[in-house]
Amino acid sequence: MPATNGAETFDYIVVGAGSAGCVLANRLTASGRHRVLLLEAGGHDRHLWIHIPLGYGKLFADARVNWLYSTEPEPELHNRQVIQPRGKVLGGSSSINGLLYLRGQPEDYDHWRQLGNKGWSFDDVLPYFRRAEHQERGEDALHGVGGPLAVSNVCEPHTLCEAFIDAAQQAGFPRNDDFNGPTQEGAGYFQLTAKNGRRWSTAVGYLRQARRRPNLKVATNALASRILFEGRRAIGIEYRQDGATHVAKATGEVILAGGAFNSPQLMQLSGVGPAKLLRSHGIDVVADMAGVGEDLQDHLQVRIQYRCTEPITMNDVINSFRHRVYAGLRYALFRKGLLAIGAGYAGGFFRTSEQAATPDVQVHFIIFSGETSGAALHPFPGFIASVCQLRPESRGFVRIKSADPAQAPAIQPRYLTSAFDRDVVVAGLKLLRRIMTQPAMTRYIAEERKPGPQVTSDADLLEFARSAATTVFHPTSTCRMGSDDTAVVDERLRVRGVGNLRVIDASIMPTVVSGNTNAAVVMIAEKGAEMILQDARAQ
Ligand SMILES: Cc1cc2nc3c(=O)[nH]c(=O)nc-3n(C[C@H](O)[C@H](O)[C@H](O)COP(=O)(O)OP(=O)(O)OC[C@H]3O[C@@H](n4cnc5c(N)ncnc54)[C@H](O)[C@@H]3O)c2cc1C
Repeated sequence: MPATNGAETFDYIVVGAGSAGCVLANRLTASGRHRVLLLEAGGHDRHLWIHIPLGYGKLFADARVNWLYSTEPEPELHNRQVIQPRGKVLGGSSSINGLLYLRGQPEDYDHWRQLGNKGWSFDDVLPYFRRAEHQERGEDALHGVGGPLAVSNVCEPHTLCEAFIDAAQQAGFPRNDDFNGPTQEGAGYFQLTAKNGRRWSTAVGYLRQARRRPNLKVATNALASRILFEGRRAIGIEYRQDGATHVAKATGEVILAGGAFNSPQLMQLSGVGPAKLLRSHGIDVVADMAGVGEDLQDHLQVRIQYRCTEPITMNDVINSFRHRVYAGLRYALFRKGLLAIGAGYAGGFFRTSEQAATPDVQVHFIIFSGETSGAALHPFPGFIASVCQLRPESRGFVRIKSADPAQAPAIQPRYLTSAFDRDVVVAGLKLLRRIMTQPAMTRYIAEERKPGPQVTSDADLLEFARSAATTVFHPTSTCRMGSDDTAVVDERLRVRGVGNLRVIDASIMPTVVSGNTNAAVVMIAEKGAEMILQDARAQ
């Protein structure tokens, strides 16, 4: 263990400057009373493509800003390994994500409350969503203005998106102009965490402002390698920067915000986790906690590819020099056009059966096509509609493979290991096809390329999912909040049975929310920061 003499001392140390970490750094330093160290394994967010929404596709495989994880062979996906990009840069995954702003369903949070988590019902968390938000459409009972997280409309409608929304209506689903409004069900355009055509990560929205404060120190390219304990009380962090090992001490708390893969990894490396796993890697056990790294959940997505009848897709822009130049100029001059769009343009939330009380699948309608996420676009007009099950029952894990903090942990979501999930995915594909075969859509479809019209039976659709499904990048719940034996944090996000240590990021979600996860993580961090400050005042 490195000597801690001369170690810099802070009130709070936050590990990870991602979606949650930047919020925490801002809120904890706002009063000027607390000194905070924010540690980030990645670098500054200067990469040009981070800030241009469409640049999202360029960051999937860029090691300068991405951990580039992938899963272990997935047993129900023919042992395929599924890519798991994660942001490794200021802003974390909010700097590389698809920008869609979706909170999930009120029922998700009411369910968290019903699981015993006091203070986490939808009515309880709504003020934190509103506090975070700067909603371009203005304020109302559900939306806030003046917050650090800019939320805006897509800049302009698109012919194909209009066709998709019309087709959904022809299939019997409502049009929905606000998926974060009174009801989630229906088809419409997504909103983006963007402002004036630029990405609005938490590094932009929260950290930029906070970095001017003298009581915040941000250390980049600094990999936290261990939580330091005195008995069962966290007292600091050991981290690696510039080839040297450093120690920082916390008189208040250590807060883990490394995300659903790295927070449980750091706990396990530090002796907090399943004792048998830790001992197998020669790690001394501080607290034997079976749940650390368990309960991994993620949204699996299955993409149907179409060839379009008209050259109106993004493929046609990207594959033409003239159109590319025009799109570039339009963006440079007006911040409009294709460069200003995120991962999905339009989409919807639907119920696959009468038994579902609320939507159980999400559709992302994407006006370009390629073989896989992040792959080169097809050389012909094409688009994609994908389906993902919102509330999977399958549970996986994150487990260290080595005591070396630089080694990636084993990540295994165990997609489709639940029969219920397999049924919903098949039902979702059938529902999506029902929409895509309505008159409003068929005039734009030259062919369904994959899986193709020959694939019709449930068994064949499931086989297609097994061979082609990927993630929609929403891993959660590996340091699950709760009060049962395997819950990791309590309702105030304190690690159970361990002092001065909290986890505040996507890993605390008791269950993954029914939508994209960034907005929920920002809400969790807003609420988490408030709880830390309340507890400090109460001491
Ligand atoms: C490609 C992609 C597309 C997505 N699209 C969307 C979308 O359109 N809409 C949406 O709502 N959600 C989307 N998501 C999901 C969403 O972005 C994440 O759920 C959210 O950002 C997670 O926030 P977090 O704070 O838990 O973790 P992160 O934002 O990943 O932050 C963790 C941070 O901790 C740092 N870190 C980790 N370990 C250490 C360590 N040991 N020492 C120091 N630093 C460390 C990491 O480098 C990172 O910066 C997407 C995610 C990805 C990857």
